[in-house]
Amino acid sequence: MTLTERDLKVIWHPYTQMQTAAPPVGIVRGEGAVLYGEDGREYIDAVSSWWVNIHGHAHQYIAKKVAEQLQKLEHVIFAGFTHEPAVELAERLLELLPQNQQKVFYSDNGSTAVEVAIKMCLQYWHNKGEQRTKIMAFKNAYHGDTFGAMAVSGRSAFTNAFEKLLFDVEFIDLPTADNIENIKYQVSSIKTELACFIFEPLVQGSAGMLMYEAEYLNELVAHCKAEDVFTIDDEVFTGFGRTGKAFACEHITEQPDIMCFSKGLTGGTMALGITTCTQHIYDAFLSADRLKTLFHGHSFTANPVACAAALASMDLFVAPETKENIARIESSHASFSNEVKHHPKVRTIRQTGTIVALEWETGNNTSYFSSLRDTLYQHFLQQGIILRPLGNVLYILPPYCITNEQLNYIYSAIKQALDTI
Ligand SMILES: *Cc1c(COP(=O)(O)O)cnc(C)c1O
Repeated sequence: MTLTERDLKVIWHPYTQMQTAAPPVGIVRGEGAVLYGEDGREYIDAVSSWWVNIHGHAHQYIAKKVAEQLQKLEHVIFAGFTHEPAVELAERLLELLPQNQQKVFYSDNGSTAVEVAIKMCLQYWHNKGEQRTKIMAFKNAYHGDTFGAMAVSGRSAFTNAFEKLLFDVEFIDLPTADNIENIKYQVSSIKTELACFIFEPLVQGSAGMLMYEAEYLNELVAHCKAEDVFTIDDEVFTGFGRTGKAFACEHITEQPDIMCFSKGLTGGTMALGITTCTQHIYDAFLSADRLKTLFHGHSFTANPVACAAALASMDLFVAPETKENIARIESSHASFSNEVKHHPKVRTIRQTGTIVALEWETGNNTSYFSSLRDTLYQHFLQQGIILRPLGNVLYILPPYCITNEQLNYIYSAIKQALDTI
């Protein structure tokens, strides 16, 4: 039996309609930007395996560091104990972040990093004896799939079944020159109830790579600060170079109160989440009163092996070569955008850093729209490229080690598809 056949008997896949989905592709190994199928085929991973991979697959340096850590200490309870990888990772990450970020809280993934951020804010106000339970977020936001993270995400077909159980959130539009004053007014009018504002900086990934301007985000964050509303910068997707800078918040001058990380944190090697916060927030949990403790933790909090992977990934991330690769991808995406932007099938094309997203023109043809995503996905898979369109939005966000040759192969396949599909 093939992997695929064995899989279909026992496995339920994420975000997959198991009745109609094509059988999963068995992957046996990876190297650089390429994944190798059990059928002997090669696939260029143009979406970094759901946006997590930054240095390429099965990176030998990360593998070596992980193997060394596994032989030293695989795990230890993180309440009452600590270890070198967790301490070193916290020290080194904080050095890269805005200087107001002072404390690191570990968890398991992006959703849990968001849960922790929300709980920090809600309990901050609780500990201060203030009734502030409302959270503000952007329409179409995506912050994860656990209940709290789902609640602060935009309401959609994905959340329908759980709608009644999701707590109330104040959803606002993405800020623009036209609406920023209105949004600020909206914040001020509910500020006494608002615990925090959570946002995806510059790019709303799951919403279809929607992009907005740093200038108005900066103005909004500044306004929240002035009104005493905490800001949570969810860098789970945008962190570690995706937007061209190490973190998307470097595109603005205001510093968020809390930041969330996962995905690229371990280079896409292992699951790990981090929530960082200011000293001010941390201090609100210090007390002789045990009830002021942040009661949150996971069995695998600060897993040493995952921390070792993150440290190895960070070594690679700060190397000059990575910066050069990011700049190289940025400029080749820009040339590609210029080449195709006037194509009749291109409604719009937008780019932030290493992310380029092309909105496919579907006219008024709704049946074309509904089949387009699957058609494109299968088409590119046949060409040996993994691209997973979000509706009619086709995007590329590759591992930074992708070669120019591989990038050009992807661009040509898209140009050809624009002419033929
Ligand atoms: C992916 C994502 C999450 C959730 O991370 P998981 O590790 O998948 O739980 C949260 N926020 C943003 C912005 C994301 O893109």
